[in-house]
Amino acid sequence: MTADDGRTSAENVTGENDSTAAVNFIQARINEEQAAGADYTKVHTRFPPEPNGYLHIGHAKSICLNFGIALHNQGRCNLRFDDTNPSKEDIEFVDSIQEDVKWLGFDWEGRMFYASDYFEQLYRFAEQLIAKGLAYVCDLSAQEIRETRGTLTEPGQNSPYRDRPAEENMDLFRRMRAGEFADGSRVLRAKIDMASPNLNLRDPVLYRILRSVHHRTGDAWCIYPMYDYAHPLSDALENITHSICTLEFADHRPLYDWCLENVDYRSDVIVNRPRQIEFARLNLSYTVMSKRKLRQLVEEHCVTGWDDPRMPTISGLRRRGYTPSSIRDFCARIGVAKRDSIVDIALLEHCVREELNLLAPRAMAVLRPLKVVLTNFPAGEVQWLETENNPEVPESGTRQIPLTREIYIEQEDFMEDAPKKFFRLKPDGEIRLKSAYIIKCEAVIKDDMGRIAELHCSYDPDSKSGGATSGRKVKGTCHWVSALYGKPAEIRLYDRLFLKENPDDDSEGRDFKANMNPDSLTRLEHSIVEPALFNAAVGDRFQFLRQGYFVMDGDSTAEKPVFNRIVSLKDSWAKELKKG
Ligand code: ATP
Ligand code: MG
Repeated sequence: MTADDGRTSAENVTGENDSTAAVNFIQARINEEQAAGADYTKVHTRFPPEPNGYLHIGHAKSICLNFGIALHNQGRCNLRFDDTNPSKEDIEFVDSIQEDVKWLGFDWEGRMFYASDYFEQLYRFAEQLIAKGLAYVCDLSAQEIRETRGTLTEPGQNSPYRDRPAEENMDLFRRMRAGEFADGSRVLRAKIDMASPNLNLRDPVLYRILRSVHHRTGDAWCIYPMYDYAHPLSDALENITHSICTLEFADHRPLYDWCLENVDYRSDVIVNRPRQIEFARLNLSYTVMSKRKLRQLVEEHCVTGWDDPRMPTISGLRRRGYTPSSIRDFCARIGVAKRDSIVDIALLEHCVREELNLLAPRAMAVLRPLKVVLTNFPAGEVQWLETENNPEVPESGTRQIPLTREIYIEQEDFMEDAPKKFFRLKPDGEIRLKSAYIIKCEAVIKDDMGRIAELHCSYDPDSKSGGATSGRKVKGTCHWVSALYGKPAEIRLYDRLFLKENPDDDSEGRDFKANMNPDSLTRLEHSIVEPALFNAAVGDRFQFLRQGYFVMDGDSTAEKPVFNRIVSLKDSWAKELKKG
């Protein structure tokens, strides 16, 4: 068993020393506020996912940032479901989001809320705006509202309903709530400025009529608040001090502030005035991150589910074998900026590789087996040889591996017509079997079709690894597994899900799915693993010598374990670092 069973992760991030709280421009701003005498006593952030899909690695960045800032400042971070759009939301997503945040190592300390918890208060705030003459019921259709909104260069036109008296607006709004009007027939709009250079301030819609069963409030409501209205006020009701969101909301900030300025939300306990701060969202190369697109991949069966190990979802990364700490490490390394960029996925792979190098016990697995008969090794005999569990961590000790007359090596470790520089096995050539002996290829046995069926090799009894009698060296060392003691396994190798660095780029007029990699999954159903892996449990991680890091998958059965390759050993990021 590896120390960290990623599936149930109990390890929590506790703060000060965690790299997620490294100083970024948001923390710098908090430091300034506090130096100048902040108008709040405790930093309070929130992570506000919409429960319309599973969380992805981009959300992990936001989670690390929001919880990290709270931890760094001995503050608080809430989990809030932004469930104001009933038509796309589902309890399945609510559950998965909680699981994923916990798994990443963060704790909302019981402060889990739903925007729908505030529907009644938000409704009363809207009545306040109406009473103040700051909101009106508009009978224009969605299309008419769009058409009268103006453009970046031209002002919009006032709605003919803009000057309805407050009492009439109040009456109509109450009747909207009571269900007297058809879906889409009326909306409540803020009365701000149809000529504002900021389109978000041109009398934005605050409420719409929508008969849709909500996953929490059922059919109690037939009007639903819009995000730009519900979000600032939900923040206020939770005493949030810093409302961190992604850059595309920068233009919405004046509306965020308008709502807070014009609603009297304060009470004995609700004292903070939240401020919105924007940061650049994470984009990863060879990856799509929009929930809409990820959902499409799931619904159209392009992947096996939200937790397909090729998906950039937290649940996909978990099943792939990523550790929570490697994801937090990644989020810390990419930092928090105000400009959008694309992060190389090789950095994420580098983070998990670096961690698993220390964490993962070594094992031998032959992915594509080729049988080797050691002709001078007595049949029925077994030699137990010692090998290290992790050369990077000597205190992890050693284990015994069985050598028998018949073994398997990797098909690609033998070549019949080998070029000069091929330092693995070839006719009359020699290699060392890892932690065992040097063997020499004496004969290549073929089947009726002329394909290589097995190799006959001799082993040199004086060449035992670490033994006193032989100082003889050969260039190649290969991993191997005893044919008698080895166990069949299925091994799943993954490649990028998309071939294009930016799969969202539709400049060639093609759908993002056209950029999918048809070879993103290779299933090897006849692999052989060493007996030490008999006792592995789902979630255990290993380094299979020369093949990469692997995790035991939940599809495993008693007869046949299944291992996912997390990453190969080749670190293209480390290479970049050296070059750069
Ligand atoms: P998507 O576009 O993938 O559907 P979203 O922003 O609609 O994402 P939400 O559930 O609303 O998804 O996001 C919850 C929080 O996570 C928000 O604060 C959002 O800003 C943040 N977030 C979403 N995607 C990213 C990303 N790629 N990088 C950083 N933060 C993100
Ligand atoms: Mg959203």
